[in-house]
Amino acid sequence: MNDYHMTPDEFRARGRDVIDWIADYMEEVEGYPVMSKVAPGDIAARLPDHPPRQGESFDEVLADLDEIVLPGITHWQSPNFFGYFPANASGPAILGDLISSGLGVQGMLWATSPAATEVETRMMDWLVEMLGLPERFSSSGTGGGVIQDSASSATLAALLAARERATGGLSNRDGVDGSIVVYASSQAHSSVEKAVRIAGIGSNHLRLVDVDDTFAMRADALEAAIRADLDAGLVPAFVSATVGTTSSTAIDPLPAIGEICARHGVWLHVDAALAGTAALLPEMRWIHEGLEAADSYVFNPHKWMLTNFDCSAFFVADRAALIGALSILPEYLRNQASESGEVFDYRDWHVPLGRRFRALKLWFVIRHYGVEGLQSVVREHLRLAREFATWVAEDPDFELAAPVPVNLVCFRHIGGDDANEAMMHRLNESGRLLLTHTKLDGRFTLRMSIGQTRTEERHVRKAWELIKAAV
Ligand code: PLP
Repeated sequence: MNDYHMTPDEFRARGRDVIDWIADYMEEVEGYPVMSKVAPGDIAARLPDHPPRQGESFDEVLADLDEIVLPGITHWQSPNFFGYFPANASGPAILGDLISSGLGVQGMLWATSPAATEVETRMMDWLVEMLGLPERFSSSGTGGGVIQDSASSATLAALLAARERATGGLSNRDGVDGSIVVYASSQAHSSVEKAVRIAGIGSNHLRLVDVDDTFAMRADALEAAIRADLDAGLVPAFVSATVGTTSSTAIDPLPAIGEICARHGVWLHVDAALAGTAALLPEMRWIHEGLEAADSYVFNPHKWMLTNFDCSAFFVADRAALIGALSILPEYLRNQASESGEVFDYRDWHVPLGRRFRALKLWFVIRHYGVEGLQSVVREHLRLAREFATWVAEDPDFELAAPVPVNLVCFRHIGGDDANEAMMHRLNESGRLLLTHTKLDGRFTLRMSIGQTRTEERHVRKAWELIKAAV
């Protein structure tokens, strides 16, 4: 019989080629046009309609990577990428991920690979310390952290736990009865509404609470919404507050929201997907003021903490509530370690059963950079964002559209929506940088998100020159 497999020696040789390919990419990415300009279907048109009957040489595969795939890549790892929020990779993260692929373990139960669980638990506890998060999120008490694929999944898991707590476990048994209500600000990420739909609560039972002039949730409006629902006989169960909204990095007032949630027995979830990373810096810990009252919290090392996608860090204060909502134990997963009660089985902490060893890349990142290294990168991004905001504020043709608490500058040219939109398209078409937009107060707003792993002052200065020239 033919041996179709790649031998370890071939893997060694091809592996070197691939690492070289990635290293070349890191060196060259700054020179690439940031935004892919292909039209819909261009890439598909270059792929064969049918799979090869016989295996092909790895050289051919790598050649097609350059020929076919690269033109269709928007370069998120370019230091000139200022769009959306960053999705950063870094050398140690890529290598950690590669080893995780090489090990190929499923970490669904402690028993299926004890190291996958124990490294993850320790990494989550390290993050509690690194970000100065409340002790109730550490695994030494009743809480703990788990890596999820995304903040969207984490918010869903939190909502399912909250739903079960609010209904005494009856929703899992009987289905939802239409009484539960969820609250988030009008600026909250769409993942909250998605979670509300998936959890069977229904978009009509999501209250989008008004925001103030900094785009942060108005606590008085939250209180009024909860009271109205209580008067209507409904069950307020879950508030998702945001630290760093997607449009403008607004920070909801956690102390006031936490007090309201505690008074009404409502689960408080805090979504700090992007901004949480800023709390690596002691001078930025204020963004988490009031977090002690939260039942759950999520931030994404896969955005700004140099750990490539996917790696979303989700914490709960009461892990029993989460596990109670999500655990189902079929016979084929029974094992002594689980029954001893001495181990975490992370399959019970999220929706999927199977799970990769994602903690490895986080471990590599934290050990490579050290807390100081990570702080230094984040501190520089924050400095650059403030600098950029100053340039905007001082230019009579431009205006800031929102406060800049973290690393996102929302701004616009004074020429109106059409002028700003045309400017953004011109800039992105140029390939020299990538910017995206949002609407704030109904007006077209440019977003300059400064947080790519390799972005330096010279990139931000150049971007500002290009923006001014694109008017
Ligand atoms: N929450 C906020 C505040 C975000 O900005 C984002 C993405 O940008 C998300 C949630 C969704 O993140 P994920 O892609 O990890 O689901």
